[in-house]
Amino acid sequence: MRRFITLIMTCLVVAGASATRITSPSGRLVCELWLDKGVPTYSLSYDGRTVVAPSTLGLQLADGTLGTGMKQLSATPVTSDNTWHQLWGEDDMVRDHYNGLTLSLMERGGKHRRLNIVARVYDDGLGLRYEIPAQKGLDTFIINDELTQVRLAHDAPAWSIPSNHTEYFEGIFERAPLSQKDTVCTPLTIEFDENTFVALHEANLTDYASLNYTPRRCSDGTVTLLSALTPWHDGTKVYCQGRTVTPWRTIVVCPTAGDLLLSRMMLNLNEPCAIDDTSWIEPGRYLGIWWCIHKKKNTWEMGPTHGATTDNVKRYIDFAARHGFAGVLAEGWNPGWGEGETVTYLRAYSDFDIDEVCRYARERGVRFIGHMESWGRAQLIESEMDSAFAWYNRLGINTVKTGYVGHLLDGKELAKSQYGIRHYRRVIETAARHHIMIDNHEPAMPTGLQRTWPNLMTQEGVRGQEYNAWSVDGGNPPSHTVTLPFTRGLAGPTDFTPAIFNQGEEVVPGTHPHSTIAKQLAEFVVLYSPLQMAADAIENYEGHPALSFIESCPTTWSKTVVPHAKIGEYITVARKQRDGDGWWIGSMTDANARTLSLPLDFLDSGRRYVAWIYCDGADADYESNPYSLSTNRIEVDANTVLTLRLARSGGAAIRILPQ
Ligand code: CA
Repeated sequence: MRRFITLIMTCLVVAGASATRITSPSGRLVCELWLDKGVPTYSLSYDGRTVVAPSTLGLQLADGTLGTGMKQLSATPVTSDNTWHQLWGEDDMVRDHYNGLTLSLMERGGKHRRLNIVARVYDDGLGLRYEIPAQKGLDTFIINDELTQVRLAHDAPAWSIPSNHTEYFEGIFERAPLSQKDTVCTPLTIEFDENTFVALHEANLTDYASLNYTPRRCSDGTVTLLSALTPWHDGTKVYCQGRTVTPWRTIVVCPTAGDLLLSRMMLNLNEPCAIDDTSWIEPGRYLGIWWCIHKKKNTWEMGPTHGATTDNVKRYIDFAARHGFAGVLAEGWNPGWGEGETVTYLRAYSDFDIDEVCRYARERGVRFIGHMESWGRAQLIESEMDSAFAWYNRLGINTVKTGYVGHLLDGKELAKSQYGIRHYRRVIETAARHHIMIDNHEPAMPTGLQRTWPNLMTQEGVRGQEYNAWSVDGGNPPSHTVTLPFTRGLAGPTDFTPAIFNQGEEVVPGTHPHSTIAKQLAEFVVLYSPLQMAADAIENYEGHPALSFIESCPTTWSKTVVPHAKIGEYITVARKQRDGDGWWIGSMTDANARTLSLPLDFLDSGRRYVAWIYCDGADADYESNPYSLSTNRIEVDANTVLTLRLARSGGAAIRILPQ
């Protein structure tokens, strides 16, 4: 339901122009939009304090700036309050409640070109986008730069990864004053002040270039973030045709770091589901012939220690069937991994009987998960995907993991350029037609497209568990997984691949997971993904007391709460299952041991529950004793306050079911 009402338009005198004020439904967030000497300008305040000082908007087209010398044609307010159901996700129902405005502008002179600024103000943030209406003289045109500014009222600590020299977004989010950063990717998370956390990103990145920001410190103490779109190889940013709408530029503003994780504004700013029959889309947990390859015990290519052999994959399928896993991934099932081999997704290696494996899996209620590594050859994937997806569908394969290892797509273009964005979308849409779910590795940064295309299950775009196998810097530091939920995690599902139980057999001396087993378990709850790989080899799970937590943990939820949140230091996330009243909790800390008090006030009052607690043993320590795990079962209710004693880089994983 969408109601159009007349908003009370408050006219203020700002720099000699009248500003239009848009207030969020609760009134806490206020956006003002106006023309400052003909340039569209906005500001944003939260609880009466300026967060974004006056910042200008516009587009640099190949034939001149669009956004100067403008006059206002109209200001059309809109308000909307509806609630929609998420097919899968961290919540079941999502409220989409905002006040918005479309400011229609036209150049006073020259070509009289038109530009609309569309704004939506939610209680947890602002979404802004440009709309270039269909008009004479702009049938086809080029955007050479976007002139969006976000002028933060003052400098503040921020977490980000650099836009340049970070491949596939696989970097460590570094904390530094915003003004000292070079061009950064989004999400960009800012601790604006003690009671205000800000996250910048974008929503609905469709046929456009990915957004980056370049911070500049200004003499008045503000820090201006200038948008920097990702270019094609020739420097062009975006090729446009006819009516063009840009992705939403999002500024989430929340009172706590934990609230950042609960903002659904990015999803709200995407289009509703475009798939009519979604019955084939199934979140779930899978295993993989994967860690053994990264640990160099198996190979991708065919040979004496080939991982993806018929027998080995069947062994994983047996384990999956016994322990309730939905699927088994095997990398290296198809030719293309050996020296000089031609890559194809339409044929299996000769020691991998794909028909037999898929039959075997089907009979046991498990799915084989296809893998398409392209080494950046997007055109190869496009040339084979229709036939490959149709074939996989006939075999009963319903999930494909795509991969783009290689510096550039097709030897030329950045993955996060308009070229890459177009490619990834073609894959998602083609997969949907063949009832295939996608787990995309080496992707563009997610922007909430899973609302529209819920077969886009999860994506990498993160420095994941694999770095704990072979990274020459020793692996992910203890602070990494307590930073990701507040940064990369804000962009959507993250295929981090949790739960390495055996930290030995290093292939690079000193490189292994720097966390306790309990912390590895907590990753299943804290790092959200609707498709989630338990990453270790099955030998390391067999008979392990922690396996029962993995078996039980859902991958789609009806409700999420965040009882503890300190970026880069610690986090506790509690999630309620969809098809019952059980709760799963993950808690994790950085290299510091700490004791957290956890009130279970999210449970139904007056109801008795049983809690299974998997926590660090008394002598656990990520360096000296990572395997020390203590499990116990206690009765709890909504009045219970649990005391979580987390070891250095430790954690706790808890399952709570009603009695
Ligand atoms: Ca990777």
